[in-house]
Amino acid sequence: MAKYVYDFTEGNRNLKDLLGGKGANLAEMTNLGLPVPPGFTITSEACRHYLAEGATPDALEQEVAEHLGALEERMGRRLGQADDPLLVSVRSGAKFSMPGMMETVLNIGLNDESVHGLAKQSGGNDRFAWDSYRRLIQMFGKTVLGIDGELFEHALETVKGDRQDTDLGAGELQTLVETFKGIVREQTGKDFPADPREQMRLAVMAVFDSWNAPRAILYRRQERIPADLGTAVNIVAMVFGNCGNDSGTGVAFTRDPGTGRQGVYGDYLQNAQGEDVVAGIRNTIPLQELERLDKRSYDELMTIMETLENHYRDLCDIEFTIERGKLWMLQTRVGKRTAAAAFCIAVQLVDQGLISMDEAVTRVTGDQLAMLMFPRFNGGAGKRRIAKGMNASPGAAVGKAVFSSERAVELAGQGENVILVRRETNPDDLVGMIAAQGVLTSRGGKTSHAAVVARGMGKTCVCGAEELEVSVSERRFTAPGGVVVTEGEVISIDGTSGVVYLGEVPVVDSSVVEYFEGAEPDEDLVKAVDRIMRHADAARRLGVRANADTPEDAARARRFGAEGIGLCRTEHMFLGERRQLVEDLVLATGAEERQAALDALEPHQKEDFVGIFQAMDGRPVTVRLIDPPLHEFLPDLVDLSVKVATGAATDKDRALLAAVRRLHEQNPMLGLRGVRLGLVIPGLFAMQVRAIAQAAREVPGARPEIMIPLVAAVQELEAVREEAVAILAEAGVDALVGTMIETPRAALTAGQIAEAAEFFSFGTNDLTQMVWGFSRDDVEASFFSRYLELGIFGVSPFETLDRDGVGRLVALAVADGRRSRPDLKIGICGEHGGDPDSVHFCHDTGLDYVSCSPFRIPVARLEAGRAALSDSDSDTR
Ligand code: PEP
Ligand code: MG
Repeated sequence: MAKYVYDFTEGNRNLKDLLGGKGANLAEMTNLGLPVPPGFTITSEACRHYLAEGATPDALEQEVAEHLGALEERMGRRLGQADDPLLVSVRSGAKFSMPGMMETVLNIGLNDESVHGLAKQSGGNDRFAWDSYRRLIQMFGKTVLGIDGELFEHALETVKGDRQDTDLGAGELQTLVETFKGIVREQTGKDFPADPREQMRLAVMAVFDSWNAPRAILYRRQERIPADLGTAVNIVAMVFGNCGNDSGTGVAFTRDPGTGRQGVYGDYLQNAQGEDVVAGIRNTIPLQELERLDKRSYDELMTIMETLENHYRDLCDIEFTIERGKLWMLQTRVGKRTAAAAFCIAVQLVDQGLISMDEAVTRVTGDQLAMLMFPRFNGGAGKRRIAKGMNASPGAAVGKAVFSSERAVELAGQGENVILVRRETNPDDLVGMIAAQGVLTSRGGKTSHAAVVARGMGKTCVCGAEELEVSVSERRFTAPGGVVVTEGEVISIDGTSGVVYLGEVPVVDSSVVEYFEGAEPDEDLVKAVDRIMRHADAARRLGVRANADTPEDAARARRFGAEGIGLCRTEHMFLGERRQLVEDLVLATGAEERQAALDALEPHQKEDFVGIFQAMDGRPVTVRLIDPPLHEFLPDLVDLSVKVATGAATDKDRALLAAVRRLHEQNPMLGLRGVRLGLVIPGLFAMQVRAIAQAAREVPGARPEIMIPLVAAVQELEAVREEAVAILAEAGVDALVGTMIETPRAALTAGQIAEAAEFFSFGTNDLTQMVWGFSRDDVEASFFSRYLELGIFGVSPFETLDRDGVGRLVALAVADGRRSRPDLKIGICGEHGGDPDSVHFCHDTGLDYVSCSPFRIPVARLEAGRAALSDSDSDTR
């Protein structure tokens, strides 16, 4: 029978699937003997059952009752007991951390009676008891009963005036509790539930429900977290940070999550309860100051953090509370960090002897590497610096200042770059944060919501820029020196230094790109990247090639580590001034004219290939013969029609108009293109093959490979292959002749096709288009956002290879192809070749190489190394 509830003493960190990250790590800390308040975890399986069936599993109530009974026994008090209450928190905790996206309710167990018991328990601290009670009604009202949080906030603000929340007295808080209860009654038609067990039951269901809250769905989509995992729920005995100045709450990292620098790092808030820190409600103090306030707790915390880092062998972040001088650990997890910190920490841990180099490679991701390749500011020279905040998440972001998430989404939708400016962000700002280039806040520390979420997303963020007066209602902020920035004005924020500039600051290449371009590694980050890349290269089995079709791109690809070209598209070679020649080809009326047009094109083609073969210096170059329909090279139908109608047309224009009409297709993607062109237009492919052969003769060591696009039947390939082989033989050039596998039929008949192909290269752009029946030029913009919302897929199949559909065809074609021709060389050259998850798929499926755009090459090299080092684990998150 399923077990739905685990005591903290029963779990461990490997049970994240079941207990969620928070529950598993609370259990782990409990087992390490660290001071964790007792509690238990309701599994994510119970949540999945609840979400699917609309009701909790039958056995759950009994199990919870048993665990609660045991907890009460251990604590010597019952939940909500009038004279001496046990209070609990009900906390969400999914397998993957989703900071602030789901619900938590604190102080469960308080009511009109037990509030007095709590006051007594705390030595007559009435203020604390009433503050805890008003927090319960506020949180419960908002998250469990679905009441607009603003109503409570407004009532609180009214009582508070200009004072801090800590300045409110017991009497005022007691009145506030009555006001809050009135709000609940008014909004729900019912009284705030006084029964502690009912409070707990409802809170648990609210946490389950919050798995499907819009912001949680959005966050999962952004972070590619599967939609069907559900969340666990932790019931934890309450400890209080709001008992007075000998109490408080904080968050900390075992090293700097922004740079990776060693040394603990965190924020502390005196006399406050957990959520206050992350919400950025009051400005926190640096953790180091805790040493002065409470040395004993500080020292204990330092020891615990060291224990955790050594135990997890990684950067950990923690949440803790001090209740009247007693330290309690409320959470730990392997902490989110910036991309730069990830690389630095990985090699530091190697140098500390905590992990191996193999493991270091698996600790960083291709997405992080890609982030490090983004440009940075050139120092902001000449630009007006208007403020400095905390460098919460690195990067250089430029855009128009906007003051609400709605506006951010709206302007971003119109193609504008925006910077979301807020006093502080809350989880509802997630949509705006996603839409914006960067986020700027005037309040909150490096552990505030804005900072944590931005870091997780790799979005530039400057937070806590206290010099700024942000007025959301007036849509503007004021900076020192009387600078006023209104909505729509451009600002630049530097997430690496924390500086905010007025106007647009130009950007320059990142130091990591300079390193890939050949610069000696000097700064720590680049040295870390260098070490990890070398190790990944040594470990990987997959080759990495480039999609490049100019000598410049080819040269850059080589510098970035490409071992060849996997796709040299030839169509751009027919553009520009050469359009003329294509027009002559299309307009040719007989064999002779056609051949003359082809003969005119051939020397140009040859020169193109010479440049590329030279740039690749003896490495293989897969040249794909022309693929798009020829009418793509002709003038526009409307332009020609206008010319003809206005009498401005020449004879050639008139002939071209007729040709455009003749060649028009309803579905050009499924029309006369690829191999079909080669079969229908005599001499076209032969011209290209001759140009390749001549170029190869001219460049010593050139290694051309000839690739035929859009093949669906072996017969197509045989026909063009025969001609190509004859031309190559005549020229005395050795070259493989192979095919793209980009139609479903090619994949399904790969066994036959391999008889005529010396290599396969999966064109997964077209293959995805044809397998899904999705027009690759249209669907992403037109309806994919709805599909993502509906969870039909978590990420566009044009971005990450769809393993269940397209992937099965690829695997089938690999197996059948190799059965026919054991030494068949197999690669991929669709966009997926540079996508981290797809690279892992290619490794798992036994491809020989991936080919991607030059800028993705380092990413592909790293991911190929990671795939080889974590063979059984294809999770690239
Ligand atoms: C493909 O279809 O995946 C491919 C690489 O070819 P193209 O994108 O040029 O159609
Ligand atoms: Mg294609």
